[in-house]
Amino acid sequence: MLEISGLTAGYGRLTALREASLSVAEGEVVFVVGPNGAGKSTLLKSLAGLVKPVSGEVRFRGSQVTRQQPEQLCRQGLILIPEGRHIFGSLTVQENLTLAATTRRDRKAVQEDLDFVQTLFPILRARYKGVAGHLSGGEQQQLAIARAILQKPSLLMIDEPSLGLAPLVIDQVYESLRELNNRGLTLLIVEQSTGWMMNIASRAYILRGGQVVLEGSTDELSDPERLEAAYFGH
Ligand code: ATP
Repeated sequence: MLEISGLTAGYGRLTALREASLSVAEGEVVFVVGPNGAGKSTLLKSLAGLVKPVSGEVRFRGSQVTRQQPEQLCRQGLILIPEGRHIFGSLTVQENLTLAATTRRDRKAVQEDLDFVQTLFPILRARYKGVAGHLSGGEQQQLAIARAILQKPSLLMIDEPSLGLAPLVIDQVYESLRELNNRGLTLLIVEQSTGWMMNIASRAYILRGGQVVLEGSTDELSDPERLEAAYFGH
């Protein structure tokens, strides 16, 4: 579904991502894990068109999409939930959800999706007319995922869904991601820690210093010593 080859990207003179090659197959859950500053967000931003790669190639469903504009990528179903969620805190839950679907013309399907996300996340139904900024961190993450679903993703990319959340809440977020994957949604998830990857991912990449230093199925990566050596670089 997604083929990334030799992707290099950065900010001015700083190269944050160096010759990274990764792939995601239809229906998979793939993790990218690495320490602070490894280039994980830069990778996702490059895929979402928010950072223009210096070199390399991205193919999505067979088409070349490198350096396309964010709105073109969105239209093809490449949807990013950025780090920090980026919901509209002063708007209601309902407004947040309907705004996410403004470019869609299939009004009936939008209504079905609105019902679906409120069934998946009952708190969003309960707080539908409430201000989104009053939701807890975990509820805001659920709203961010719901907003992404309203954009009809084929590949959903999530930057650190666990950020700032308590372990129990993270479990709930991952349970909903698993449910979405069971329904056919492909996921590319970035995390700083390997904790949740074993429960949901089929494959993972370890990124350090902007480079892929280890990759494999989660079975292959189940040896903690090997994982640690790649993560910390010793
Ligand atoms: P974290 O887990 O801390 O979010 P990360 O793996 O997502 O880290 P990136 O955010 O991709 O890493 O950052 C990679 C490198 O690029 C870091 O050295 C960072 O300081 C730098 N960087 C990130 N964003 C910018 C920016 N907008 N301008 C300049 N440098 C940046």
